[in-house]
Amino acid sequence: MGMTEDLIRWTHEQKCRKAVASLDRNGFTALYCDTQKAAAEYIIAGAADSVTIGFGGSMSVVSLGVEQLLREQGKEILNHGNPALSRDERLEIMRHQLTCDLFLSGCNALTLNGELVNIDATGNRVGAMLFGPRRVIVVVGRNKLIDGTPQDAIKRVKAWATPPNSKRLNFKTPCASTGFCNDCNSPDRLCRVTTIIDRKPRFTDLHVLVVNEDMGF
Ligand code: SF4
Repeated sequence: MGMTEDLIRWTHEQKCRKAVASLDRNGFTALYCDTQKAAAEYIIAGAADSVTIGFGGSMSVVSLGVEQLLREQGKEILNHGNPALSRDERLEIMRHQLTCDLFLSGCNALTLNGELVNIDATGNRVGAMLFGPRRVIVVVGRNKLIDGTPQDAIKRVKAWATPPNSKRLNFKTPCASTGFCNDCNSPDRLCRVTTIIDRKPRFTDLHVLVVNEDMGF
């Protein structure tokens, strides 16, 4: 690794560690991960006593490659992302995710003050992050860190996460064609539920892994 890259990485590390310290103060179980591999190992270890494992549809979690490993261990995988599933089958899996042993999710933005900010269309992902699963592990890449308020984080999500997500899902929203949010009223509007988790929910064993690599969008 060259010196420039080392220095950039070091700078990201300081911000990741600041977010971890804030999350810790806010009651979460928070961990700095130098690499995605370290995050994947933490998840596999954390899944040891889990039978049912829910996936919230996160590109960050997909990039860790843990689903196949967990499947091979005989875990029951609850993933509604298979395009072959009917609408009713997808909804049924989403309902089961709400009471699974371990729920895995990404996060749209994390402030350096330790606040998790997410925007959902259906609400199944944020619902499972708040209450229901016995344990929740959230993975956040360094590109999701915001040195600002939850309102700044919401702006980041609508500028950088929702447009590519709308495009990926083939939704007919203005941001999917222009790349910019215009606070649409489209039937396909993705931005329907906005959550700010600023302290660990009382009865949810919520872990947050802050990874010093870019993950998802
Ligand atoms: S409000 Fe509409 S245009 Fe704006 S980011 Fe959400 S889906 Fe896209």
